[in-house]
Amino acid sequence: MHLPFCEAKCHYCDFFSVPSAGQDIEGTVLAVLKEAELRAPQRPRTVFVGGGTPSLLDHALMRRFLEELDVITSFADSAVEVTLECNPESLDRDKAALMLDLGVRRLSIGFQSLEQDTLQLFGRVHDVDASFRAFDAARSAGLEDLNVDLIYAAPGNRLALWGEALERIIKLGPQHISAYNLAFEEDTVFSRWLRDGKLQRLPEELELEMFRLTRELTSAAGLHAYEISNYARPGRECKHNENYWANQSYVGIGPSAVSFVEGCRAGNARGIEGYMASISEEGHSISWTEELAPRARLGETWWLGLRRSAGVSPEQARSTAGFQGGGDPALETALHLEEVGMLRQEGGRFALTSKGIPVADRVAAEFLWVPPDAESE
Ligand code: SF4
Repeated sequence: MHLPFCEAKCHYCDFFSVPSAGQDIEGTVLAVLKEAELRAPQRPRTVFVGGGTPSLLDHALMRRFLEELDVITSFADSAVEVTLECNPESLDRDKAALMLDLGVRRLSIGFQSLEQDTLQLFGRVHDVDASFRAFDAARSAGLEDLNVDLIYAAPGNRLALWGEALERIIKLGPQHISAYNLAFEEDTVFSRWLRDGKLQRLPEELELEMFRLTRELTSAAGLHAYEISNYARPGRECKHNENYWANQSYVGIGPSAVSFVEGCRAGNARGIEGYMASISEEGHSISWTEELAPRARLGETWWLGLRRSAGVSPEQARSTAGFQGGGDPALETALHLEEVGMLRQEGGRFALTSKGIPVADRVAAEFLWVPPDAESE
């Protein structure tokens, strides 16, 4: 579920989100509930309320949102995992307790950095202490399943400080850490600053050292790297995202949310007013759809699955994709990548090797397939 409001827009962010001041937050939440009534699966196995910053809903609206969502879907009874994304400036003990009371079981808290200069460069509205206060607030409210979201390799970052920051986070004892290498996404303030020469990327070798250090420190602390950027205590992997990486179906609700059901990808309108109008007038807000051929789904199944340490089973991938053509072109690619040392096989599954992990994006992209007619367009 996507609630697209934030206190301010972060300079690196390419999600659909807008500063909350002056926005019709209540109207949007009601439209999201309306869409849930029309499209959300009954008794979902997992729920992920993201955005945006869902924690910025005030108590009354948070209560209404979660209570009505439960009336519509019965998620509080059915879901094995219910996550809500929070930012430090809008999370206190009372709000955490309210969310827990209404069925939320897992919080993902956006620390992003433990360096004040980096937080400012990112355009974050909280300081480092606020992140720790928010984490303590969640814990003292009784929420045990906590993720800390971090971004490393920002301009000016140094390896030693990153290591110290990570050790401080590990000492807090979160069940899960997401640590992403900063990406300069198109149409962000950061990509503009990069183009204008106001920012410079860190050298690739330093980024890799930070990545390796992340793996070392998390592994030593018992948080296993079950995905390229995600580390969890055993059993605390994010089930919602595991479903996504396994290329299984999901339904996205809210402005700009994307769904993937039975091989068809569909996206909601991005603008808030357009979203609200289409929900009330048409009963849905789907503004584009893309039917994926089994061959494309096969490629995507490998592309997503190789991000996981569990890797990919060729048989399972074919079955997930509904691919019944002769041969298996993805398996051929995998065997070639095994020959050059990027993939390894174990128990009938292919996974990245230590040589392949640092270049995971490039290795996984080898599996993507574009229909021949789309190539010539
Ligand atoms: S808080 Fe999150 S969603 Fe909002 S602008 Fe920042 S990174 Fe994007």
